[in-house]
Amino acid sequence: MAEPKPPSLALAWYMEEPSLIRWLAVRLSEAYSGARVELLGETVLPQQMFDPVRGQWLSNQVLAYAMLLRERLAAWSDALLLVVGGDAYVPGLNFVFGQAMLGAGVAVVYTERLRPEFYGEPSDEELLRQRLLKEALHELGHGFGLEHCPNPRCVMSFSNSILEVDRKEPRYCSRCAKKLLENGVPVDPRYVLPG
Ligand SMILES: [Zn+2]
Ligand SMILES: [Zn+2]
Repeated sequence: MAEPKPPSLALAWYMEEPSLIRWLAVRLSEAYSGARVELLGETVLPQQMFDPVRGQWLSNQVLAYAMLLRERLAAWSDALLLVVGGDAYVPGLNFVFGQAMLGAGVAVVYTERLRPEFYGEPSDEELLRQRLLKEALHELGHGFGLEHCPNPRCVMSFSNSILEVDRKEPRYCSRCAKKLLENGVPVDPRYVLPG
């Protein structure tokens, strides 16, 4: 079987540092075997998607907005990732680190709870980057059709807390990588757990 060609990704963001997004774009291009990653630029989220009492974005609405962005600005892409500098929730959960449409190539990641400062710790750019990369690979994995993985080190394991984010690696287990390949998304060996 011939190796499928690398996917095309679109990246958009809101209230986040462009330097952080550019760093992420390079990593995602590597992870998906030389994927084309196009920066769509900063977007503006409609304020009615924000719950001022909770101080959080309504993630279901933000995800629907991300789908619209993909349809209108990145119909060429296999997936769009929206990075939001904020916090969000879905009904029934106190918060989410991100959300995706399973197999539909649309994903959102929220960075507020990835920042050490959120937990009263000193700012740490490298830690923030690693956490963002993990959550981006996780949500894009859902966007490419993957469900949660029981391997706690696999990036597709479910994270209910920042400790669980820190415990996993920014890599897919071999089972998840194989499924991605079957779904047409080749993963670079550097982003696959050994064994
Ligand atoms: Zn998940
Ligand atoms: Zn896995």
